[in-house]
Amino acid sequence: MRTITLLTYLLYSLHLFGQNESNKPNIILFLVDDMGLMDTSVPMLVNKDGKPQKHPLNGFYRTPNMERLAKQGVRFSQFYAQSVCSPTRVSLMTGQNSARHRVTQWINPETKNHGPADWNWEGLTSKDVTLPALLQKNGYHTIFSGKAHFAPTEYEGADPANLGFDVNIAGCAFGSPGSYLGVDGYGNLDPKRKKRAIPGLEKYHNTDVFLSEAITREAISAIDNSLKKESPFFLYMSHYAAHSPFQTDPRFGDNYKDSGKSRPANSFATLIEGMDKSLGDLMDHLESKGVEENTLVLFVGDNGSDAPLGDTYGYFSSAPLRGKKGTCYEGGLRVPFIAGWAKPGKANSFPIAQNAVHYQQIGTVMDIYATILDATGTKNPSDHTIDGVSLIPQLQGKNNPDRSDHFLCHFPHSHRSSYFTSYRKEDWKLIYRYKTKVGKRTLPQYELYDLASDPYEKTNLADQKPNKLKTLTEQMMAQLKAEGAQYAIDSSKKELRPILP
Ligand code: CA
Repeated sequence: MRTITLLTYLLYSLHLFGQNESNKPNIILFLVDDMGLMDTSVPMLVNKDGKPQKHPLNGFYRTPNMERLAKQGVRFSQFYAQSVCSPTRVSLMTGQNSARHRVTQWINPETKNHGPADWNWEGLTSKDVTLPALLQKNGYHTIFSGKAHFAPTEYEGADPANLGFDVNIAGCAFGSPGSYLGVDGYGNLDPKRKKRAIPGLEKYHNTDVFLSEAITREAISAIDNSLKKESPFFLYMSHYAAHSPFQTDPRFGDNYKDSGKSRPANSFATLIEGMDKSLGDLMDHLESKGVEENTLVLFVGDNGSDAPLGDTYGYFSSAPLRGKKGTCYEGGLRVPFIAGWAKPGKANSFPIAQNAVHYQQIGTVMDIYATILDATGTKNPSDHTIDGVSLIPQLQGKNNPDRSDHFLCHFPHSHRSSYFTSYRKEDWKLIYRYKTKVGKRTLPQYELYDLASDPYEKTNLADQKPNKLKTLTEQMMAQLKAEGAQYAIDSSKKELRPILP
């Protein structure tokens, strides 16, 4: 596999030699919906000396179990996701960037969202190469729990069981739950919420069990079944939290009642804390079963924060980063990523740096596919192009020579930020807009930021650095071409393609 460095490969080959089925590491991919980089008490950003730096939002949220995982693992300051759900979710499953897999917009369960003529609004199918199907073939018991959002209603990929998962708990076509409350049957018992009623979980209907808790209990039970089978497991633990509706998780409401923030903002914080409890419960359970040293936990968000804290383009939801979910700014694209063994120890199949912050290189959601294949000794099919790389060198605190220095977010659709491509290359960031009129606003066609000196995207250098702007636009266009990007169509049926400044 091209993503593995020679050294890692050699070490890994030695490690795999003589390994039997039962000591392949278990993997938990712990995905949180709409959680941005700052929605946690774990400081993810660093100061000039590379030391973690707390910002006010770190003081608002309470995530003690993320702190626990961060202490025994490595966290990334510069980890990129797509700006909305489905593009990231398909990247996690395929290792491809959204311009390549063509799920460039969130999948509306009922209709095709506006965009390029044949963007892949039908999502994943059983014919696609997917991470769980590859792991399944390699002897893993594959468990899905929570929010799927891989394909529209009544399409094959709406059910994760058709995409390589042995077990599907509560996953379906949509991304927003009708209700988080057991008394509402998660939408099934309330006619107003029925359109987005969560499937399964009937035994928790009419109870006080919050949705985040129900999917965690069911995931734990599925893990126990895997352990009985003596096969390694892959758990894709995918929280509906903290997506709207912003309902309060009553277990944590008191912690925020004096925050001085709005009711929805406090509710969002309770959704985050309930998700964090789930992480702790899973880690505790692994310890109780004695498999904590042989279980790798990868924690990640699916797009920038959607915390209801203020204006979309400003410095609120992801402060000090600019913007939020759905935007082209860093607050829309940067997410928390933490990797660690459920417990560090002799049974870990490779070492991971502890209490470490990796800020030197970027990481992306495309890398998770390659990382899990690498960690489990699973091969990527030779005809399946991937855009990510294995992060294992970075998890060990080393420079990753395979790591590309760019991240491309191509969004030829209408949403909060519409018709844009955002391209980070080294420390430079270009935002290109295919339409400059968005609602009542007129926005610049080009924005250029030097993230090294201006990490919060305050000074647009597009006019001051014409040569840099031109070079970066050329590089962005080449990358779009390499990934086979599609373009939106304007009212005169003309493709909206980028143009050089
Ligand atoms: Ca999302």
